[in-house]
Amino acid sequence: MKVTQHIKEANGKPLFSFEILPPVKGKSIESIFKTLDPLMEFKPSFINVTYHRSEQIFKKKKDGSFERIDIRKRPGTVGICAAIMNHYSVDAVPHLICGGFTKDETENALIDLNFLGIDNVLALRGDPPKNEKYFSPDPHGHSYAIDLVKQIEMLNRGQYLEDDIDGGVHTDFCIGVAGYPEKHYESPNPDLDLMFLKNKIDAGADYITTQMFFDNEKYHGFVKKCRELNIDTPIIPGLKPLTSIKQLSAIPSFFHVDIPNELALEMMKCKNDKDMELVGTEWLLAQTKDLISAGAPVIHFYTLGKPQVVYNVMKQIL
Ligand code: FAD
Repeated sequence: MKVTQHIKEANGKPLFSFEILPPVKGKSIESIFKTLDPLMEFKPSFINVTYHRSEQIFKKKKDGSFERIDIRKRPGTVGICAAIMNHYSVDAVPHLICGGFTKDETENALIDLNFLGIDNVLALRGDPPKNEKYFSPDPHGHSYAIDLVKQIEMLNRGQYLEDDIDGGVHTDFCIGVAGYPEKHYESPNPDLDLMFLKNKIDAGADYITTQMFFDNEKYHGFVKKCRELNIDTPIIPGLKPLTSIKQLSAIPSFFHVDIPNELALEMMKCKNDKDMELVGTEWLLAQTKDLISAGAPVIHFYTLGKPQVVYNVMKQIL
């Protein structure tokens, strides 16, 4: 079922969703089930699965020289979505990215997703590969998420890249896009960032999932500004548990979001990991409760490989 349909049918009741990343190459699907098993008692409406592009690494050869090779450390997004749907009978939402994909490969991936009965796609640009500073698209690919949205929307209207496909199947994907309560780091300013977001909605996106934030005022302000711009799609807040002192600098540097002073100071007072996890749990619980009472359509948890804090929060919510 489409994410938007889940929201419609919930009739204002808060929904929950979780996000996981594929295991590193060589690990089995069991590691995914191990993360998700305890969370399934909370009946998530859908599970997102991230997509990871290939990276270039330098591999030492026998003669001592190095060669540059492409490796994908976390393949399997589409397969994992199929496995999740099969194993739990819950909707899976694959992330699709522009980076590293040609338009043709994107079309073929969408055809696979349609055959698998997957109704939703989160359409993203993707970040630059680890050792590159700026995003550059595949020469035959898309530069921005909006171009991916347009391609999916075209397929929903039965328009394939080869224009001699007559009477092609119309897919019916519900399209999600990313939004940034604290602005995307490359955007010149928040207003322009919102304008680009509105363009994605006008191009056919059905809902927004936000980047993580730790100060709910950022989300409330973002929703208000979106509504002023007549963006009237659901805006799903994304929440990530904070569990270690390392994250105090890693999260701002990687995700370009702030950690509020109060939370940072509480974390800095902690003597061990267990105390930090407690502080992170309390903070996430307070954020979740506030978002539910503000009427957020779905609370989306960036569970990744660490379900315990999310589990503890959900136990206190439901
Ligand atoms: P876009 O919407 O294309 O925006 C990228 C930048 O370009 C922004 O600064 C925007 O303001 C600007 N821009 C947009 N249109 C134009 C234009 N026409 N002209 C000039 N500038 C423009 N990454 C992954 O690799 N895999 C994942 O699975 C993944 N999942 C994510 C899930 C969520 C909910 C979020 C919030 C992010 C996720 N990301 C993921 C990270 C995401 O790919 C990066 O944040 C990326 O840098 C931007 O993606 P986007 O889709 O927001 O890009």
